Amino acid sequence: MYEKYSFRFAAFIVLALLLFSTQPRDAYSQSIAFTFDDGPQLKPSPLLTPAARNQAMLDALARHKVQAALMVTLKNGADRPEGLALARAWGVAGHDVGNHTVTHLDLNSPAVTLAQYQNELLECDAVIAKLPGYRKWFRYTFLREGNTPEKRDGMRAFLKARDYRNAYVSLDTSDWRLDQKLVEVLEKNPAVDIAPIKAAYLAHIWQRAQAYRELSQKLQGRDISQVILLHHNLINALWLDEVIALFEEKGWRIVTPEAAFRDPVYQLQPDRPAAGQSLLLSMARSLGLGKFEGWERLVDDGDFEIDALKAKVPS
Ligand SMILES: [Zn+2]
Repeated sequence: MYEKYSFRFAAFIVLALLLFSTQPRDAYSQSIAFTFDDGPQLKPSPLLTPAARNQAMLDALARHKVQAALMVTLKNGADRPEGLALARAWGVAGHDVGNHTVTHLDLNSPAVTLAQYQNELLECDAVIAKLPGYRKWFRYTFLREGNTPEKRDGMRAFLKARDYRNAYVSLDTSDWRLDQKLVEVLEKNPAVDIAPIKAAYLAHIWQRAQAYRELSQKLQGRDISQVILLHHNLINALWLDEVIALFEEKGWRIVTPEAAFRDPVYQLQPDRPAAGQSLLLSMARSLGLGKFEGWERLVDDGDFEIDALKAKVPS
């Protein structure tokens, strides 16, 4: 008896030593990778041309020496030469270029078939595969994996067969909602003071970052390498610089998307009939943690910040 236990104890010590010696202590310290969806976006916006918006985001990344990923939605611009040039600029600057369908269709819609969704992946792939930085990375539109188990499993098998990675998001944000607000107020009054929107945006990003960090500690018992979802839009053209600086100031380590995806958490496939959203939120749901503390602020689409802005910015 005694010998058996001491053997087990010795084996445990050896295992623990192995784990600690092969894994640098900071392997899981808080890190973050930046990804940008729906780009390149040629839709006009106030203040900046599409090319200027693209360049502003690239400049901010370069200033902070951040290597990021652009997830291309073909019909937003890359199906035209001027848009394709903007996508190419990301690859040329050393960023990864991934796939985010052609028309941004919703796999959770009963009207969208699995075959239709797969065709859009292939159609986007045919264009982006020629770009520098091309990766076989697929970002689900709306972060939705399908409204039926057949669609979910069909798409997961399709990605696996083609050696595609599900380019998961762990740190979901509502940057798009604050961008809508920004565009709306600028369209009404180009001279409006947008400083309150900037402050609200940075506060929103930091709130989500902390909340998802807490959620990763709750679910994984550690800090995972976070993958943040932002969009190719005006708000990031204006303030990505400050967003990156915020994470730097808070001591987060910025890593490449590839390095972040090496975190074993991104091998998980939450078992839910309709999987999607942030991987962390999806895991929480699959574990039955539907309404954990603070969940409302992870699914509110930025309502909190938009409400708070009402008093500060004319709408
Ligand atoms: Zn999208």
